Amino acid sequence: MPRLDKSQAVFDAAQRLIPGGVNSPVRAYKTVGGVPPHIASAEGARVTDLDGNEYIDMVLAYGPMIVGHGHPEVRAALHDAIDRGTAFGAPTAGELSLARKIIERVPGCEVVRLVNSGTEATMSAARLARAATGRDRLLKFEGCYHGHGDSFLVQAGSGALTLGAPDSPGVPAALAELTSIAPFNDLDAVRALFADRRAEFAAIFVEPVAGNIGCIPPAPGFLEGLRELCDAHGALLVFDEVMTGFRVSRGGYSALTDVRADLVTLGKVIGGGLPIGAYGGRADLMQQISPAGDVYQAGTLSGNPIAVAAGEATLDLLDRRGVYEGLEEQGARLQAGLEQAAREAGVPAVVQRQGSMLCLYLREAPAVNMTDVTASDRERWTRFFQGMLERGVLLPPSPYEAWFLSTAHDAGVVDEVVAAAEGALAGA
Ligand SMILES: *Cc1c(COP(=O)(O)O)cnc(C)c1O
Repeated sequence: MPRLDKSQAVFDAAQRLIPGGVNSPVRAYKTVGGVPPHIASAEGARVTDLDGNEYIDMVLAYGPMIVGHGHPEVRAALHDAIDRGTAFGAPTAGELSLARKIIERVPGCEVVRLVNSGTEATMSAARLARAATGRDRLLKFEGCYHGHGDSFLVQAGSGALTLGAPDSPGVPAALAELTSIAPFNDLDAVRALFADRRAEFAAIFVEPVAGNIGCIPPAPGFLEGLRELCDAHGALLVFDEVMTGFRVSRGGYSALTDVRADLVTLGKVIGGGLPIGAYGGRADLMQQISPAGDVYQAGTLSGNPIAVAAGEATLDLLDRRGVYEGLEEQGARLQAGLEQAAREAGVPAVVQRQGSMLCLYLREAPAVNMTDVTASDRERWTRFFQGMLERGVLLPPSPYEAWFLSTAHDAGVVDEVVAAAEGALAGA
């Protein structure tokens, strides 16, 4: 294993001053064991830890760093913005410019509000959906993660799932009771819920590609079926594209499907590595948000000029010719390489991928929902993770998190990841 003395020292001290030593749960490496490498710097496709170990980064800050770390143009935009002032509590031209860029890219997004995180985006969208329909109940899917808002910490994916605590203490039972759950990709289950409570649902929240239980694309007809049910029963359809937005295509999954959501939530990539989120959608709904309407939602640092500058620079870079084709090409190369490595090692594995997000599941058959995902071989996956770390590849420290590629992950980098996987799978 890499020497992690300095990371260990910081981690030991941090445990006493920061809950679990980390500011977000999955970072603590509870699932995979050992000390998390503490990152000192990053460049392109690679990160370097406090002890000087270098890794190919497949975490990419859990998605935002789609143009790689420290891209010169994002840096230049940041320097320029910092020199002009870091927060004003007053509107800026940059906010309009970023709003235009989002609206131009995401189909169905007519009006957009910037917030500070994906969590804030989904919480705000839930409030708007409840206000607009006059109903309280939400429907979400097992393993889908919509941030840590009270209404969504019910059978959630990502860290909540990894740590085996899908329902958090502190979430009022009366509120959790208002969230109904169905298995992802199971339209019949959704129909059954609507049959019982057709007049109660304000909205269905769905990750169009489930990215917090790895990478599970929607089954044919699934999103279409949700749209029909919402239309038939007066509920809103919300696509949570915090992960998929600007990642799986220029306009997110919304641009890959004919199904139009009423509201879309965004985050991760639109901040280019700085804290930001957004929610948008139909103008008649979004104009109900304060101060245009009476649905209250606010933020001291919302539309922060530094975050907006990084986001704009990132979206501009993604508009260069061939960017998404390149991400698709390297994604396909990585998928094929991993599949071959698993075959050669005699390890049952399935690689599921949507563009530049993917997941390697240690199981025989494709995963279509959370039950499948949790039935994969967790012990072997942990050995595989450790083997990858040893070989200089940093994966998300959970079998349930998606891996990401950036534009800095060229064929050479991908081949290094595949070579590491050959060794790590053989040893797992
Ligand atoms: C990451 C994520 C969120 C939460 O975003 P934060 O910025 O971590 O609050 C919400 N929904 C989805 C689909 C996500 O992947």
